[in-house]
Amino acid sequence: MTGIYTRRFVPNFVGRLKSWMASGKKSEQLNRTAHEVLSEITSNQDLITAVCYLWGDLGQPPKKISFLQLASVLNHYKNGGYYPVGGSAVIAQKVIKSIHQYGGRVLVGMGVKEIVAYKDQVMGVKMDNGDYIKSRQVVSCASLNQTFNKMLPRPDVMKQLDRLSCDPACLVLFVGLKAGKEALGIKDNNIWQFISNDCDADLQRFDEKMGEDAAQGFPVMFLGSGSAKDPAWKEQGKTTLEIITFAKKAWWEQWQDQKCLSRDEDYQTKKNVLIDRLLEDGLYLNYPKCRGQVEVVDLGTPLTCEHYLGSHEGSIYGVAHTVTRLHPRFDKVLTPYTPVRGLFMSGQDITGAGVISAL
Ligand SMILES: Cc1cc2nc3c(=O)[nH]c(=O)nc-3n(C[C@H](O)[C@H](O)[C@H](O)COP(=O)(O)OP(=O)(O)OC[C@H]3O[C@@H](n4cnc5c(N)ncnc54)[C@H](O)[C@@H]3O)c2cc1C
Repeated sequence: MTGIYTRRFVPNFVGRLKSWMASGKKSEQLNRTAHEVLSEITSNQDLITAVCYLWGDLGQPPKKISFLQLASVLNHYKNGGYYPVGGSAVIAQKVIKSIHQYGGRVLVGMGVKEIVAYKDQVMGVKMDNGDYIKSRQVVSCASLNQTFNKMLPRPDVMKQLDRLSCDPACLVLFVGLKAGKEALGIKDNNIWQFISNDCDADLQRFDEKMGEDAAQGFPVMFLGSGSAKDPAWKEQGKTTLEIITFAKKAWWEQWQDQKCLSRDEDYQTKKNVLIDRLLEDGLYLNYPKCRGQVEVVDLGTPLTCEHYLGSHEGSIYGVAHTVTRLHPRFDKVLTPYTPVRGLFMSGQDITGAGVISAL
């Protein structure tokens, strides 16, 4: 991975030289999927699936995910996982402190409508409320798609992105339970749940059937409890838990033009079916003591992610984490540098999915 970051992050001659050298190499591990590499070591599909169990962290199943990227996520967990004391909001609170310390300001709930450029030099940003903020340097942490499709339309950049798909969107079930973690048997570990040892086929079937046959089981499910991981959690008699699975935005398109929180009743009806299944197949299966203990529950759909995170098509991790993503042909677009002077990119489209990676 270091080689890829050098190619993409080091400006000018050194990066270009590295890209050129990489484009000549044919069979590097980075051109191979996790399934290809592991199949050379074993034919045991159960074992391959178990070794690849973290593929959900990058959105692509074993026959599509890049071996190298999956290996770096596995390596990242070598000494266990990490959770910020006080919850994930603490990360933003601490970063904001530093921004203030250096004279910066943080605007919350305000969107950028347009990145203004003149003769390929960035000049500032226009906000949704009409404010104009002048600056000859802008760093966009929105996706490449949002930035160059909406905020500063650049067909040349979009053309380079043409051959890159996006990672899937997701469903996130937020559950509030009226008992403490000990009473419910919930620990601080995550659970990844699969329905067979062929995650690629399961995911494809689920996608084709538009998720309507959820009765056959969600191909993948993640369960994690934020409150159980947080030593600073104060509500000892209560527990929070999230269940995440993949979904397509297309399943929700009929409601996309309706306002968030006031969509038609049939949107809620569809959500209710999925909520029941996720509770049965996910929560109660793994934590039977939770039955009868759910105090609040709601489901975030790809439209929710699009609304709150500004993610392209509700995609969970942006540019798909397939082997294609690592190809040198994309070095010029999956990089902090843009064709507009003073405009830089950051975040998961550039570095890869995950909080640590994006930071
Ligand atoms: C449900 C879910 C669970 C996850 N769990 C984990 C986990 O446990 N561990 C982990 O490491 N990673 C996890 N991830 C992945 C991780 O959250 C992302 O990889 C990471 O946050 C990406 O950071 P980013 O800065 O690229 O994008 P984001 O964190 O998405 O930040 C982009 C920001 O840009 C803003 N934005 C977009 N458009 C505009 C606009 N026009 N104007 C103003 N602002 C705009 C958005 O509001 C957003 O705040 C999870 C992701 C999801 C969706």
